[in-house]
Amino acid sequence: MEAQTGILTVVSGFSGSGKGTIMKRLLEKYPQNYALSISATTRAPRPGEVDGREYFFSTVERFEEMIQNDELLEYARYVNNYYGTPKAYVQEQLAMGKDVILEIEIQGALKIKQKYPDTVLLFVTPPSFEELERRLVGRGTEPPEVVRERLCRAGEECAGVEAYDYLIVNDELEACVEQVHSILQDEHAKISRNEIFINEIKKELAEYAKGERS
Ligand code: ADP
Ligand code: 5GP
Repeated sequence: MEAQTGILTVVSGFSGSGKGTIMKRLLEKYPQNYALSISATTRAPRPGEVDGREYFFSTVERFEEMIQNDELLEYARYVNNYYGTPKAYVQEQLAMGKDVILEIEIQGALKIKQKYPDTVLLFVTPPSFEELERRLVGRGTEPPEVVRERLCRAGEECAGVEAYDYLIVNDELEACVEQVHSILQDEHAKISRNEIFINEIKKELAEYAKGERS
């Protein structure tokens, strides 16, 4: 039976909602199932971030070259920087049967869904606005004016949320990770994602009915 290709999954959500934390834990728990795409960005690395691990940190010139050369699956501008998804890794991991997760903002998510309608879109939110602000400030990685810009951008992102397939409320981390895993496992069981299997068994049953199989 031919192996099923992986599911392309997009995770978006307000900055500080906990997307990165959820994805890190999901990959720790289920390393065989998932691959996380590493984006390119022109923003500066945060303390502790490593080039090629969190992001491929890029100059504006190099980023624009990637756009020209069609090396990106999608890209967007977010609070004065470019962010984009390199194509090659995603295609290679999907072909190997891994579910590839893109942790990207809403404009990119909508572009991906348009190009690849089978994509599963997940939207992560904290349980309340107060908790969002607390997490974003508590992370301590952005100065107050950038925290404010990100909270304003969060308000704008609500506008596109109806296009998403699932809402993930990130209250208790472990429960949230299990919810994401179980959604994606259920997606694999959808009839529309199992055409090859179904066609093969139909063919075998038809052969049996005609006496072509013992
Ligand atoms: P994002 O990737 O969405 O910007 P992060 O994963 O960086 O968000 O999380 C923002 C902050 O919230 C981090 O300090 C992280 O440790 C914290 N956090 C994430 N998930 C939870 C949770 N379920 N409960 C409490 N704090 C959380
Ligand atoms: P951060 O600066 O906090 O790492 O990311 C800012 C925003 O950019 C987040 O919403 C993140 O999901 C999004 N992002 C990261 N990589 C990409 C990408 O490749 N494409 C798009 N469209 N958004 C991205």
